[in-house]
Amino acid sequence: VEKILEVEQVKKHFHVGRGQLVQAVDNVSFEVYKGETLGLVGESGCGKSTIGRTIIRLYDATDGDIRFKGKTTKDLKGKNLKQFNREMQMIFQDPYASLNPRMTVGDIIAEGLDIHELAKGKARQEKVVELLKTVGLNEEHADRFPHEFSGGQRQRIGIARALAVDPEFIIADEPISALDVSIQAQVVNLMKKLQREKGLTYLFIAHDLSMVKYISDRVGVMYLGNMVELADSQELYDNPLHPYTEALLSAVPIPDPDTEKRRERIILKGDVPSPIDPPSGCRFRTRCPKAMDICAKEVPTWQEVRPLHWVSCHLYQEESLKKEEGMK
Ligand code: SF4
Ligand code: MG
Repeated sequence: VEKILEVEQVKKHFHVGRGQLVQAVDNVSFEVYKGETLGLVGESGCGKSTIGRTIIRLYDATDGDIRFKGKTTKDLKGKNLKQFNREMQMIFQDPYASLNPRMTVGDIIAEGLDIHELAKGKARQEKVVELLKTVGLNEEHADRFPHEFSGGQRQRIGIARALAVDPEFIIADEPISALDVSIQAQVVNLMKKLQREKGLTYLFIAHDLSMVKYISDRVGVMYLGNMVELADSQELYDNPLHPYTEALLSAVPIPDPDTEKRRERIILKGDVPSPIDPPSGCRFRTRCPKAMDICAKEVPTWQEVRPLHWVSCHLYQEESLKKEEGMK
């Protein structure tokens, strides 16, 4: 399988005054394969949106490297940057906030066509109609304004706008979180259909694990700026290894209690600590039901502990367990 995106040891830190630094993303590494959906989950503030925005170059990484189709995105300029901006598109959580209220839906959708000079006049008009139909809207919608549409329809407009420039990679940052549950499945199904038809690759960011499993081939779990676990979605749901993933999954309703094994609900103590002053060692240790002495002293390494199943937790590291014994 072809790697389309490689994220290597990426950090994104923000200065927040008084010399303080928010370590929003810290040493995150993962790959995305062409044509797949990689889901990213975690509570708000875990860094999942920040990593998405860093990948698409809304932010510059503080450290580390991001490669798209084998080439670093760090020093993209001019024509190459414009090409990158076309190949990678973003869909936002709140389609209303991201759609200009004074522009007609047709002009919103055609924005990318205009910027990249892909179509003019009649061809532009035809392309807009085709895009509207692709996302389940129709021709008459082109002359209307965003406020005339429902949340689900607005997200369809956001998707049409992203598709206008024929992207290869779409970062969807909580695209369904603001929608009614009944509408969520429609938007996700539309995204799946478009992926099949156009061979798109998705990075799908969400906090709701059940929808993420449904759309994703693989899922990465983030906590306080770190990636803590990454695996094939079925594998992650069947065999979660990281205590944080176990806790997140224990809150997911089981669709069919007869066929799936019951999970005991794990309630985590306390709140997520501040990313300004994260805990030493494992960042999850202040809330981890399985924390050991070594967890406060050493940062667990990111390791592939089963085939294609990555986790960073001392429980799965022989060396760490030996050291822990020595500390007793
Ligand atoms: Fe818990 Fe320690 Fe594993 Fe962190 S490294 S998740 S604190 S057991
Ligand atoms: Mg977010």
